[in-house]
Amino acid sequence: MRILIIGGGGREHALAWSLHRESPDAHLYCAPGNPGTATLATNLDIAVTDLDRIADAADAYGIDLVIVGPEVPLALGLADRLREEGRLVVGPGAAGAQIEASKAFAKDLMVRAGVPTAGSRTFTRLEQALAYVASHPEPLVVKASGLAAGKGAVVCATRSEASAAVTEMLGEGRFGSAGDVVVIEEFMEGEEVSILALTDGTEVELLPAAQDHKRLSEGDTGPNTGGMGAYSPISLATPALLERTRREILLPTLRQMAAEGIPYRGVLYAGLMVDREGKPRVVEFNCRLGDPETQVVLPLVRGGLLRCFEAIARGERPTPLDVAPGAAVTTVLAARGYPDRPEKGAEITIPDSLPEGVTVFHVGTERDAGGTLRVAGGRVLNVTAAAPTFAEAQAGSRKAAELIQFDGKVFRRDIGWREATRRGASR
Ligand code: AMP
Repeated sequence: MRILIIGGGGREHALAWSLHRESPDAHLYCAPGNPGTATLATNLDIAVTDLDRIADAADAYGIDLVIVGPEVPLALGLADRLREEGRLVVGPGAAGAQIEASKAFAKDLMVRAGVPTAGSRTFTRLEQALAYVASHPEPLVVKASGLAAGKGAVVCATRSEASAAVTEMLGEGRFGSAGDVVVIEEFMEGEEVSILALTDGTEVELLPAAQDHKRLSEGDTGPNTGGMGAYSPISLATPALLERTRREILLPTLRQMAAEGIPYRGVLYAGLMVDREGKPRVVEFNCRLGDPETQVVLPLVRGGLLRCFEAIARGERPTPLDVAPGAAVTTVLAARGYPDRPEKGAEITIPDSLPEGVTVFHVGTERDAGGTLRVAGGRVLNVTAAAPTFAEAQAGSRKAAELIQFDGKVFRRDIGWREATRRGASR
């Protein structure tokens, strides 16, 4: 079996690690990969947006299955292109990827499918958007409709903040063409939960539910980031909530897309807001595995992942996953200056012996000419610990995060605090 993983971050390292653990005989390739995936796979120096070279590499290496990590190549039509050439692919085509690449499309689709989400309006003209903001109750949320690397949503406590956000997007081109269309929506109260589903477009197999920490600093303060840590499973995601999400959100969304002629084979990720009564509503959909959620979810899947990937890629119903009891927590080690101006170049030292159950996934690292591992991005490493209990996983991840050294290392010691509080309260 020859498998090509598209992407080069922590999510893709976790995919390679998980597939290697399950199927040590499979030949893994990563484009472009990173120094972490290099220990498990053959890295191919190809950008995720270079569809021609990816298609050529799939031919040249006789690839049986392609798993696409990031959203950008999906939105560009990579999966369509590879399927036209007869290849098995995990990931939707460009039409399905709009569920993430166009928030305006996703909101309209949800309305047509009767899926619960925040009420919203879509605008392309600044004056109309400003007039709407002026008449809308506070707080409200302003979103660039297109792909903005997770930075396109602005939660606004006041109308004047919302007017400023709208003006930046529609008037000043802050997000380029991603901000040419703006969605303004009502603010939802509650707890956020990420539900990741593997799907053939008709049925879903759920991965363990996860939560992440978007803010840079402890206590969930400071600027927004791509994510400073994540944990799974979540006690809030009871079997009843998962079933409700399947029935009221995931299946109707897939059914609606199918009815509109959009097949969907891959990952459907629902970012949910769960209110006090336990009702889930959609904050956003993604068309791929979450990052860093994947780095805690996959270590909990001890079997069945590859079989399920193959099934959905063929358009067959997803097969069951074997999910381990226990929990996983990942702590992100970032570089000084992240998220605005991360300092690169520091030498990284990862001790040979780390606490049991710890795996270090590479995100932004590189090897210099002499083979020394160095900081090469804002988020550098994901330190994941899997353990029988949540508290052990939390402690393992934190301890390992302390033991790994590089100049300017920034990390949070409180990853998982919400879940620890919930578990403490329910004891
Ligand atoms: P998005 O890019 O749509 O996932 O939004 C990023 C973050 O903004 C989410 O993870 C939420 O924390 C917050 N957010 C987005 N939309 C809403 C909403 N309608 N109500 C409350 N918070 C929201």
